[in-house]
Amino acid sequence: MAYPIDLKKEYSLKRSGEDAADTYYLATATEPAPSLPPIDGDFTTDVCVVGGGYAGLSTALHLAQQGVAVALLEQARVGSGASGRNGGQVHTGLRHDPKWFEARFGVPAAKQYWALALQARAYLDTLIARYQIDAQYCPGLLHAVHRRRYLDEARAHVDEHLRHYPGTQLRFVEADELRALVATQDYCGGYLDLSSGHLHALNLALGLSRAARSPRVLAVSAKSADGPTASASRSRTWRTDTLRNC
Ligand SMILES: Cc1cc2nc3c(=O)[nH]c(=O)nc-3n(C[C@H](O)[C@H](O)[C@H](O)COP(=O)(O)OP(=O)(O)OC[C@H]3O[C@@H](n4cnc5c(N)ncnc54)[C@H](O)[C@@H]3O)c2cc1C
Repeated sequence: MAYPIDLKKEYSLKRSGEDAADTYYLATATEPAPSLPPIDGDFTTDVCVVGGGYAGLSTALHLAQQGVAVALLEQARVGSGASGRNGGQVHTGLRHDPKWFEARFGVPAAKQYWALALQARAYLDTLIARYQIDAQYCPGLLHAVHRRRYLDEARAHVDEHLRHYPGTQLRFVEADELRALVATQDYCGGYLDLSSGHLHALNLALGLSRAARSPRVLAVSAKSADGPTASASRSRTWRTDTLRNC
């Protein structure tokens, strides 16, 4: 099989430490990277967020929208963690199948989790559209089956969702169609989810960072010590120390 990149060369580069952070996403990012000024002295804020990944950026964005002042500390670059380097796959649903939730929490709770997952998936589209993030979203995730013995499982997965957990554009794909879709003979079937897809992981992080930019959000280059290092519980304030020369 021909790979678009020379994996051997890639891995030896990474092992020799030439630029472990050099990624496809970094090379092709189109969203502006925020400049993170160094932290300057002591200051007070409503909320201190540690980390400029999806979690921290989204927290900062949504708190600021509610009028909360935020200091966001990032030790490296926005999106330099998993958020700017992941597979970019946008899945509809949860980490486990609905059956997993049904077995543990019962059918009504499983349906509620499913509804929550659909809302989260839809909200991603809302964020991308509202802030015009250059996420380069491309619809379609194909789950390809490489052994005939797994085909029944794949069919059952699709049937289960269509019957009891609607809201996705999921369909079983026969071998012929699948082989045409991925231009290989290696798979014997699978399922295609057109409500899931792929996006530019780093552009999403940078776009969220742009969206969060406001007088209420102070984003700085700083590495927090391991956590809030002191608290004054009576006044309900916390102190976060940062490391020098970050
Ligand atoms: C290899 C891989 C592939 C993945 N593929 C997918 C996928 O295809 N689809 C999907 O939905 N999810 C995927 N994920 C999961 C997804 O990337 C993560 O769930 C998500 O990015 C986590 O976001 P985060 O903000 O919690 O963490 P991160 O993105 O890791 O952000 C943490 C940030 O905090 C900063 N930081 C850490 N400590 C400090 C400190 N003390 N002071 C200041 N800053 C600090 C870091 O520099 C970093 O920027 C993947 C994850 C990995 C590892």
